[in-house]
Amino acid sequence: MYTLVINCGSSSLKFQLINPESEEVMAIGLCERIGIEESKVTYQKKGGEKSVLLAPMPTHKEAVIIMQKLLTDEPSGIIKSLKEVGAVGHRVAHGGEIFTSSALITEETLKAIEECCALAPLHNPASLTGIRACMELMPETPMVAVFDTAFHQTMPESSYLYGLPYEYYEKYKVRKYGFHGTSHSYVSKRAAEYLNRDYEAMKIVVCHLGNGSSISAVKNGASVDTSMGFTPLEGLLMGTRSGDVDPGAMQFLMNKENLTIDEMLDVLNRKSGVLGISGVSSDFRDIMKAAAEGNHRAQAALDTFTYRVVKYIGAYAAAMGGIDAIVFTAGVGENDGEMRKKICHQLAFLGIDVNDEANAKRGSEQLISTADSKVAVLVIPTNEELAIARETIALVG
Ligand code: AMP
Repeated sequence: MYTLVINCGSSSLKFQLINPESEEVMAIGLCERIGIEESKVTYQKKGGEKSVLLAPMPTHKEAVIIMQKLLTDEPSGIIKSLKEVGAVGHRVAHGGEIFTSSALITEETLKAIEECCALAPLHNPASLTGIRACMELMPETPMVAVFDTAFHQTMPESSYLYGLPYEYYEKYKVRKYGFHGTSHSYVSKRAAEYLNRDYEAMKIVVCHLGNGSSISAVKNGASVDTSMGFTPLEGLLMGTRSGDVDPGAMQFLMNKENLTIDEMLDVLNRKSGVLGISGVSSDFRDIMKAAAEGNHRAQAALDTFTYRVVKYIGAYAAAMGGIDAIVFTAGVGENDGEMRKKICHQLAFLGIDVNDEANAKRGSEQLISTADSKVAVLVIPTNEELAIARETIALVG
């Protein structure tokens, strides 16, 4: 029996069929542009060629039906029928304050996910459509919801409250939630395992640095702070997202540029971050190339990104009363040795010392600090799909 992992975004559906024993990926697919013209599916089964086909997908329901066909029909199929799927794990963006861990999907769970739609209006409704479509196709198959926010529900009040009138928290649940929880949880646990240390007695900072970036402070096995907030806009500089910015500057800009609040938020989400500063690209590789050619704005984008990562790590060292390990993950964190080195050099005052040879290796779990370093520094490739599959199996049994 296989485990199917499904990740519905606002206009996409990613899926992976995983063998739960060997943890091998049997098939992988991505449905894009759901609800817009020219929607397409990219699919590859184990040992097969990657294929791309155009297929109309007005909603996530059609995407689920196409996924079923790809997985079961000749020649793309890898299973005879969906009966070979023993469990389905669904990534759900927002679990609000209701979900502190993954949950078996029942009508009650679906109702609770629906209650969280106001907090993630683009993502939770997409997940619900995807879940319901799967339930129609596989009515007997147990399903699990794995929340992006759940891992951070252990944050203390002092971390999650904003300095806003308390009634906004009471009435509307406006607070820090944090995201990338599956990645922060998986990577911090793997780091403790790698170091052969007790996860519940460690102070770990996880740097998930990708197109979307967030940092978390994981103390004694629980998230105690994280850089993303009520939405995934807060915190670090990202590919196109601004991260922390003075709300007062927004009013000033809206008046100067005659922008509505939606237009301003669009700038913050899609035109800011390293793209906004560099004017080159949201992709770190393009920015590095431009910086190497002497482009000042590209260099400024990289420096501002690095500085903010360093600042957050310093803040979390203070929050936890020290750090045992720093872990780098995601596209930039896993691949950009130069960036890791720069960040670690700026943290030398914590007794961090990087082993250049280990830091230059790519693609696998690595300890990149020297034996003398007071803080262990690791690269742990994140694997959210595998983490979701494991959570699913753990709940379904
Ligand atoms: P993610 O969102 O985790 O897929 O990360 C995407 C980001 O990782 C993009 O900005 C890429 O430029 C960046 N990235 C991937 N490979 C490298 C690399 N070798 N060096 C620097 N950045 C990289």
